[in-house]
Amino acid sequence: MVHLTINGKPVEVEEGTTILQAARKINIDIPTLCFLKDINEIGDCRICVVEVEGKRGFATACIQKVEEGMVVKTNSPAVIEARRVVLDLIISNHDRECLTCTRNGNCELQKLAEEFNITQIEYAGSRNRHEIDDLSPAIVRDFNKCILCRRCVSTCNKIQGVGAIDCTERGFDSCISTYGNKSLNDVNCTFCGQCIEACPVGALKEKDSTNEVWRKLRDEDTVVIVQTAPAVRVALGEEFGMEIGTNVKGKMVTALKRLGFDKVFDTNTGADFTIVEEGNEFLERLKNGGKLPMITSCSPGWVRYMEMNYPEVIPNLSTCKSPHQMFGALIKTYYAEKENIDPSKIFVVSVMPCIAKKFERTRDGMKSAGYDDVDAVITTRELARMIKQAHIDFVNLEDSEFDAPMGEATGAGAIFGTTGGVMEAALRTVQEKLTGNHFEKLEYEQIRGMEGIKRAKVDMNGTEVKVVVASGLKNAQTIMEEIKSGKADYQFVEIMACPGGCIMGGGQPIRTSKERANIDIKGKRASALYSIDEKSTIRKSHENPVLQKIYKEYLGEPGGHRAHELLHTSYVKRDKYKF
Ligand code: SF4
Ligand code: SF4
Ligand code: SF4
Repeated sequence: MVHLTINGKPVEVEEGTTILQAARKINIDIPTLCFLKDINEIGDCRICVVEVEGKRGFATACIQKVEEGMVVKTNSPAVIEARRVVLDLIISNHDRECLTCTRNGNCELQKLAEEFNITQIEYAGSRNRHEIDDLSPAIVRDFNKCILCRRCVSTCNKIQGVGAIDCTERGFDSCISTYGNKSLNDVNCTFCGQCIEACPVGALKEKDSTNEVWRKLRDEDTVVIVQTAPAVRVALGEEFGMEIGTNVKGKMVTALKRLGFDKVFDTNTGADFTIVEEGNEFLERLKNGGKLPMITSCSPGWVRYMEMNYPEVIPNLSTCKSPHQMFGALIKTYYAEKENIDPSKIFVVSVMPCIAKKFERTRDGMKSAGYDDVDAVITTRELARMIKQAHIDFVNLEDSEFDAPMGEATGAGAIFGTTGGVMEAALRTVQEKLTGNHFEKLEYEQIRGMEGIKRAKVDMNGTEVKVVVASGLKNAQTIMEEIKSGKADYQFVEIMACPGGCIMGGGQPIRTSKERANIDIKGKRASALYSIDEKSTIRKSHENPVLQKIYKEYLGEPGGHRAHELLHTSYVKRDKYKF
């Protein structure tokens, strides 16, 4: 252990601890900008400078390790002045158009400028100008707002193992760029959006679709139907100051109705269809010697990554569409016929925790009924913006239920939103279908939790099924390499592009670096989904009565001709770079 004092307070910490960690242990706050715990600890921006007695100059608290007997001052007048100079320099080369910035009100730089009472620019001079990259269907990059903290670069490299972006040039010309300075659309980016979650400012954002949705809501000739993914309900409340992991399903449905959507459906029901189709596909492959391991396909960031990096596993991928695409196809066919609505007049909006779903809806094979399955995807953040624009007092809203006839979902559909949830939901169905028995115990503890890779063996009446669950693309890469090298003998693989699954998707509320370091965000959001499952009266997808009715009246058998036409798709080998 090492003993030191910070601002006169004694503290004992383990050797190897940084000054920043030691200070946080005794509730002394040191500002940070480039620091992202375990991901980007590079001491680059120097906003965290502190004085260490007996040492010349300033120490950088996020990387400087503690030493026995150290005396640290984090808030001396000299430290405050040094931080102010750092901040002035960053802001002098920054597009300061906060009023029109998506991060206005949730920006780590803006917050510091407010705290340091920056009211004029000390170092006005030349500024870099960058073209905005908005060519992709999912992400907009505006490097006029970039502060070169590299949080996005480390996230893309270390967590996702993609390396789509990096720091180029030197000195004043430094910037974050892609291979050949191409648009994200034309390089190996997967549109996972994890870089957006990492960015402290408004340099990276999702492509906004709210204006298009408002336009459709104003159009009286259009039937605007919205569906919401499982992970949205356990994160949306955060945008309104509610505790992380609060389930706001009822308020969310009320808000959507107040915004003017004609029908509010639950993508969890779509997830039940995915489970039944995927479970059926797995059983067919298992019984008939089909391509194994079967790999899940509901995470479009993962699918795009696989198409670019591991096209040889395309035959292993389940042909199932993701839940919102399946549900969109059913809305434009089954529901349209049932309600006698011309499908060309229906506009389906998916509220998703995911950025890549904006890309997914534009893929070939997503027009099963001759119309786009889904017409617009908005993220959890975009929905929050719409609710704020409408001045709806979200926190005090009464609860409402999803609309019939497609609103009823199971607990299995709910856990789809967390890592391991798709596998657990699928196993609940597969186990019963394979053995013909009814199971009371539905929890598969081995594949719960937030580890990046979880392996398990599941005994199904003498048939052993080996499964693996991976979240985060770097972990996906590990599993793919195992499969390629022939070392793996899995039968079923679940992969989610985002670390922790959809609850941590690139479209979810953005938390600060400090919150990410101090709060178990993944755990809280995941617990909320497991709690929805526990409280559900029906917890197996194949027992969903809405789903059973739609198969009976319309789709026929799982995996049958019509189900295939509407609920399945195909994949292509994709070049990483467009020239
Ligand atoms: S990134 Fe932050 S400081 Fe910069 S314009 Fe946007 S809100 Fe303002
Ligand atoms: S969206 Fe994902 S893959 Fe693309 S640059 Fe960002 S982190 Fe990298
Ligand atoms: S884009 Fe955002 S995260 Fe990336 S370096 Fe710039 S400010 Fe930092």
